Amino acid sequence: MREIAVLLLGAATVMFTDKTSSKPQTTRSAVEKRSFGNTPEGAAIDLYVLKNKNGVEADVITFGATLVSLKTPDRSGNMADVVLGYKDLDGYVNDKAYLGATVGRYANRVANGKFTLDGKTYELPKNDGPNTLHGGLKGFNKRLWAAHEVSSPNGQAVRFSYVSKDGEEGFPGNLKVDVTYSLSNDNALRIEYAATTDKTTVVNLTNHAYFNLAGEGSGDILGHELTLHANRFTPVSSTLIPTGESRAVKGTPFDFTTVHSIGERIDQDDEQLKFGKGYDHNWVLNGGKGAAPALAAEAHDPKSGRVLQVATTEPGIQLYTGNFLDGTIQGKSGAAYNRRNAFCLETQHFPDSPNHPDFPSTVLKPGQRFHSVTIYKFSAR
Ligand code: BGC
Repeated sequence: MREIAVLLLGAATVMFTDKTSSKPQTTRSAVEKRSFGNTPEGAAIDLYVLKNKNGVEADVITFGATLVSLKTPDRSGNMADVVLGYKDLDGYVNDKAYLGATVGRYANRVANGKFTLDGKTYELPKNDGPNTLHGGLKGFNKRLWAAHEVSSPNGQAVRFSYVSKDGEEGFPGNLKVDVTYSLSNDNALRIEYAATTDKTTVVNLTNHAYFNLAGEGSGDILGHELTLHANRFTPVSSTLIPTGESRAVKGTPFDFTTVHSIGERIDQDDEQLKFGKGYDHNWVLNGGKGAAPALAAEAHDPKSGRVLQVATTEPGIQLYTGNFLDGTIQGKSGAAYNRRNAFCLETQHFPDSPNHPDFPSTVLKPGQRFHSVTIYKFSAR
């Protein structure tokens, strides 16, 4: 065991382990692999099923390295799928909400689709008003990823690989990306990101799972209780670009340093909440960017008892409360996904960092290796 992060959360001690350098377990059944259909261009898409000894199951497809299903037990042991998704590949091909997707090359927004690196200005396609969102018109969420099972001390594991070409969506450098999902016997889904480049570029990678701990399609998440280990957040302009300020959350509806339900203050008369149409902001994590994942967030659904703890090596987290879901998506079990029927906790570098030299850097140079880990750990109480 190389790194252990022990974190105190109220009275409870939470332990996240990161065992990358331990010896891999030798006896493990092969990861189940199934067909998930063909894209309109005829590419065959595979689904990989990660399972643990508790019956927890995480399904990931090669289209967008997307998490399409995550089944976890409630306090009575009843399983439910706690992430939003579509019933088939067509849904993901036509998706505009990034359900479960791996997001890149630059997760979140780049102001005016423009940034300068080493004196050269790069232009990106604008797909969110005046800005670029989640990597542009065809981000990593719409790409075909190669996949293979890997041996991991963290449980069943699959590695998804993609090479983003120099100039793709306007970004410089051939970027080789690996995203490894693993599922441990302590009900932790671990996502590890790694990337290298042959030209100086910018990278910001996340997963865009929409969680509803009562089960996808079961209504709104306003009653979920949330803690965020962040004393500051980055306020935004009306087009959701950080102003550059890092603002204390104390005394604002953005203070989740102690537990609050998501809905308690979401409709308060607050300029930042109006800009986001609810929460759609980046919090500055107290844990900072460490070598070991630090506890960033805890969400609890009082009805089912399910708890989600998020730990990450990233410096920021975007809480997005599904403000733009409008009932037009029909979910995998038939229910329409309405406004605030899910929440996202997107671990990340801060939005628009390429245009904010004061923010933690997202620049990746040849010879360097981007590496980050985020762990979504499930329990019930
Ligand atoms: C963004 C939202 C956006 C959502 C879906 C989130 O990461 O912050 O503004 O609507 O992704 O694209």
